[in-house]
Amino acid sequence: MSQTAKPTTVPTVPPAIVAAREDFPILRRSAHGKPLVYLDNAASTQKPQQVIDAITRYYEHENANIHRGVHLLSTEATAAYEAARGKVARFLNAVDDSEIVFTRGATESINLVAHSYLEPLLQPSDEILISHMEHHANIVPWQLLAERTGAKLKIIPVADDGELDLETFDQLLTERVKLFAIVHVSNAIGTVNDVKPLLAKAKARGIATLLDAAQSVQHMPVDVQDLGCDFLVFSGHKIFAPTGIGTLYGRREILDTMRPYQGGGDMISRVSFSGTTYKPPPSRFEAGTPHIAGGIALGFALDYLSQLGLETIHAYESELLAYAASQLAAIPELNLLGNPRHRSGAISFTLQEAHPHDIGTILDTEGIAIRAGHHCCEPLHQRFGLNATARASFAFYNTPAEVDALVVALKKAATLFA
Ligand code: PMP
Repeated sequence: MSQTAKPTTVPTVPPAIVAAREDFPILRRSAHGKPLVYLDNAASTQKPQQVIDAITRYYEHENANIHRGVHLLSTEATAAYEAARGKVARFLNAVDDSEIVFTRGATESINLVAHSYLEPLLQPSDEILISHMEHHANIVPWQLLAERTGAKLKIIPVADDGELDLETFDQLLTERVKLFAIVHVSNAIGTVNDVKPLLAKAKARGIATLLDAAQSVQHMPVDVQDLGCDFLVFSGHKIFAPTGIGTLYGRREILDTMRPYQGGGDMISRVSFSGTTYKPPPSRFEAGTPHIAGGIALGFALDYLSQLGLETIHAYESELLAYAASQLAAIPELNLLGNPRHRSGAISFTLQEAHPHDIGTILDTEGIAIRAGHHCCEPLHQRFGLNATARASFAFYNTPAEVDALVVALKKAATLFA
């Protein structure tokens, strides 16, 4: 725990971002009679009108099952869904559209890699390397796999400031490691991990890599070729698209080697009782009817972000987060979780002995939505000797005035617990 963030000036909100905020109808509503201040974006972001309209348009004009129909609606729905795959591929700078597998979200994407890629390769003497700051979605699938195979899970420690212990990372990166799976941006501390050199070291030792980008793709440009990861996962609902849709990016050479995930319609070439053959990626991993409207809407969300510009978003959010961290650190009763060199998205904290749920409830009465709990990072909280923290998490549509409202409400809360 540390509170050394330097005071910063109030950021100026770029005109394009001021205008973009107006695209989010929900941000105009009130909560408990106060203007809504939505600071739970790491859990799920709000949706712009363009994405809401894309969903409505799909159900009003194109709704039909995809990949199978010969009629017009099915052809149009298929084209829209496959166009969305192309949008995801371009958003991540994938080499080919077939490297994009649609899933339910980051969690399912990681489970898919565990089942279809790693499990068949794993021997009891092998290891899976993750870090102490992972979300449960990047812990539990590997624990389950370790139970099934006898392989071991190795953990890169996290220092008090919320940064990875890179010396220990170097020591843990042995030839026994078969997969290195790491979070890009911590959903609890907000640490931006400098993953490129870590991925390169793993690659140089022939170790497969997975990047959990659930908390980075909405905040900064992410380029899979530049980063050099084998797999990358993210969830639609954290990037201004609906729930129930997400992405697994996998390098095509690796996807080609992988066994199916679930069996069913759409993932097969031929089915007979004497044997079944499977389609190439990505269809091999997409059994059954997918979330068609969700996929299409995800494409629109990525169009929206690309038009606004991830560079613009990243520059503004960096200032907003620095401002928020410095303002929160200046509240004497508050302790911030970690003090990372680069922070994105989230700031977690405790307020004296107050239970984080009580802080969340008090802030809610002020119209301010934050999260309280372990944020699906129980091991990280255990490492800091905590059961829970309160977390404010930001998207590009948040403003310095909302940071100020948070600070006022926390100062008021502090008096209640004094
Ligand atoms: N990884 C990280 C870093 C996350 O923050 C989350 C969601 N909080 C997930 C994975 C899992 O995402 P989902 O629940 O959408 O599958």
